[in-house]
Amino acid sequence: MNSMANKKILIVMAHPDDGEFMAGAAIAHWAAQGADIYYSLMTNGDVGSSDPHMTSEALIDLRRNEAQEAANRLGVQHPVIFFNQIDSQLTHTLEIRRDLTRVIRQIKPDAVVTQDPSTYYHDRGYINHPDHRAVGDITFAAIMPSASTRLIFPELLDEGLEPHRVSELLLVNTNHRDFWIEVTAEDIEKQRNALLAHATQVKEGPPLERLLQNARSAAQEARVHGHFFEYAAAFKCFLF
Ligand SMILES: [Zn+2]
Repeated sequence: MNSMANKKILIVMAHPDDGEFMAGAAIAHWAAQGADIYYSLMTNGDVGSSDPHMTSEALIDLRRNEAQEAANRLGVQHPVIFFNQIDSQLTHTLEIRRDLTRVIRQIKPDAVVTQDPSTYYHDRGYINHPDHRAVGDITFAAIMPSASTRLIFPELLDEGLEPHRVSELLLVNTNHRDFWIEVTAEDIEKQRNALLAHATQVKEGPPLERLLQNARSAAQEARVHGHFFEYAAAFKCFLF
């Protein structure tokens, strides 16, 4: 895969802050290279609080603002696209598949970044959130076959949206990493700052302190495959 410099990239994540945690440095890196990046979120993150005084309605507003600020800090140029699904109830319906297909046909991205729908768990300590699997499942179906097949969702044709074929798909939150890009300490600093924009969710502390270490571990993994980076971001990659 070549540089993302002149490419259009669509990020599709389940929750506000997923993209920052899972691919923040890479997104910052691509933005700095000059990629045209669109960021979309399936759910509103409306259950992400244990504060007894917090309501879902108030949280939706807060998290939308946080998500936009985080995207800005990564260098994303466009307003975040919200699909307004309920946090922790994300379900692959034909309606949401069509809504994402619409966005893909509107934006016409070269590359899409989402979460691996096959990830049920990592190691011994992490059961993957069902929304994280669902967003991957919806995105797979929207890319193949819906976005590129003319007669699927004819209402989109009626809206003037012609088929579009995505040529690269990158998965994060995956147990099948096979593609690494180099990121810099500066990219990781932008990732840290973007995470801190999620003030309702993220505080200074261990997860942020581990960002550099995680990027070093990814670089070690990349070394086994002949790439010599100090810091890396890892993905499962599909080229079509
Ligand atoms: Zn999440």
